[in-house]
Amino acid sequence: MLDIKVTRTTAPKEKPKKGEKLGFGHIFTDHMFVMNYTEGKGWHDARIVPYGDLSLAPSSMVFHYGQEMFEGLKAYKDADGNARLFRPDMNAKRANESNKRLCIPEIPEEDFVQAVSEVVKIDKDWIPEEEGTSLYIRPFVIATDSFLGVAPSKTYLFIVILSPSGAYYESGLAPVGIWIEDEYVRAVKGGMGFAKTGGNYAASLIAQVKAHDDGYSQVLWLDGVERKYIEEVGAMNIFFKIDGKIVTPMLNGSILPGITRNSVIQICKSWGLEVEERRISVDELIAAQKEGRLEECFGTGTAAVISPVGKLRYENDVMVINGGEIGEISQKLYDTITGIQWGKCKDEFNWSIVL
Ligand SMILES: *Cc1c(COP(=O)(O)O)cnc(C)c1O
Repeated sequence: MLDIKVTRTTAPKEKPKKGEKLGFGHIFTDHMFVMNYTEGKGWHDARIVPYGDLSLAPSSMVFHYGQEMFEGLKAYKDADGNARLFRPDMNAKRANESNKRLCIPEIPEEDFVQAVSEVVKIDKDWIPEEEGTSLYIRPFVIATDSFLGVAPSKTYLFIVILSPSGAYYESGLAPVGIWIEDEYVRAVKGGMGFAKTGGNYAASLIAQVKAHDDGYSQVLWLDGVERKYIEEVGAMNIFFKIDGKIVTPMLNGSILPGITRNSVIQICKSWGLEVEERRISVDELIAAQKEGRLEECFGTGTAAVISPVGKLRYENDVMVINGGEIGEISQKLYDTITGIQWGKCKDEFNWSIVL
């Protein structure tokens, strides 16, 4: 158990008004969790302090070699006014998988969950209440040694900040168009594709800009070696319904193991659907689509939960899926997962935690 010292703000900010457009990631709450790591001493000085700027040396290692990791989860307010988290233990586990890959010291899982829970409780009144809104939680670790040599840092900061965010889809689930990237790659096996770290995103921006310029909202990455097999979307994992089966790329070291992905697989199996985690080539998709066997496509991630895909572009092929409409399974998964998150449905998996 962490002994967390709490210093409350003396100047609380004005909270967004009811019905105000929140968007994503622009607004931050009154407090943040901070904890230091020093070699030889371990993690220490856990504290909740007013949200504010950090003071770091320009030589801090994170600025130069990108030694950092982050997580993303949400807090929801249920009908009784309770704050809820969805599977935060999974974020704690994944944080340590990222930490290990990046030579960042691990954070005990229970301390990670405690840090997130305590700061959410302090800023509970910032959890928006309108349909589909939530409090986005961003835990992250940065390397703070003042040193330009290439080596793991000996000091770190673990910080958790909170951002009220709006409904991802303002007018219901809307299918998106996705660009299958054939020039750039995001990650390769042996690299850090399975870790949640800034470098993977830095590598992805150029393709995202290209896709946006062409009117597509996200990039779908292919494997970094043969550029033949489907990996994942920008910040989402990807699923297909082909011949009645749910198919998703297997975790191969270059794909981020999404918690929504894991939840979708478990829910689909509980519904008696066949789920295959395997390699899927673009050629297989194109063939399935031509033969009318590609029934649905959707992305999964904390931000959107389920993001139906209406259109996939690969070179000169544009595949329209399910007539550009939301598929039945996509809608049902969205309703089920958000129902559990907001405490509206039976939580047979015990995924929701009431704070
Ligand atoms: C975070 C992330 C996902 C989705 O993971 P969830 O745990 O479901 O939010 C998928 N791909 C990438 C690259 C990510 O960073």
